[in-house]
Amino acid sequence: MIDHHVGGAVRSGARGEFGGLIPVRPATSRLIVCLRGHRLDLDLYDKLKPYSHRYRLHGTLCEVCRAQEGCDPAARHLAEWAHLDVTVQHAPDADPGDGLVLVAHPPAAGTLAGRIELRLDRTEVGVVTASPCASCRTATLDYVHVAAEYRRLGFGRTLVAAAVARAPSFRWTAPLPDGPVAQSFRARIAMRRNGPPCSHRGG
Ligand SMILES: [Zn+2]
Ligand SMILES: [Zn+2]
Repeated sequence: MIDHHVGGAVRSGARGEFGGLIPVRPATSRLIVCLRGHRLDLDLYDKLKPYSHRYRLHGTLCEVCRAQEGCDPAARHLAEWAHLDVTVQHAPDADPGDGLVLVAHPPAAGTLAGRIELRLDRTEVGVVTASPCASCRTATLDYVHVAAEYRRLGFGRTLVAAAVARAPSFRWTAPLPDGPVAQSFRARIAMRRNGPPCSHRGG
């Protein structure tokens, strides 16, 4: 195992020394609204570009949300979120370490399924598996899982975007999972349920 010592200090984040967990979204060039739908393109407020030391990612802060959350301690913390470039996917033996990163494993021998992990300080916090077929230019989103304590932060949708980023021009489909929580997540992904069967897959 690789330890987490940085400059002599243990970097676990467990004591909150790097700030709490904030939402994450796939980085896009067109950033129009905040997580509550407030427009960011109207010059109503200064645009603040915070940096998440917890994730080691740049982010955006919505001043309207910050004022709203300041008045309501029970409100979800959605004012600030970090941007993860889902096209940056590291090889398993080249994980840069600290922060929030994507690690892509190639398909196992004899299969088409690839696996992408979301790691926080080298610990897996979420995973997506997908089966692309280059012959029919289709892909199936097989499985998305986020560890329970990291849910409702956008990790799942970020993993889905990371999978799609590997084959953006393919026709993607995804099965309907069991259970209301998984189905609620699934119903926000803009993918059809079934495609024509792919004859190239093993098994
Ligand atoms: Zn807002
Ligand atoms: Zn195929």
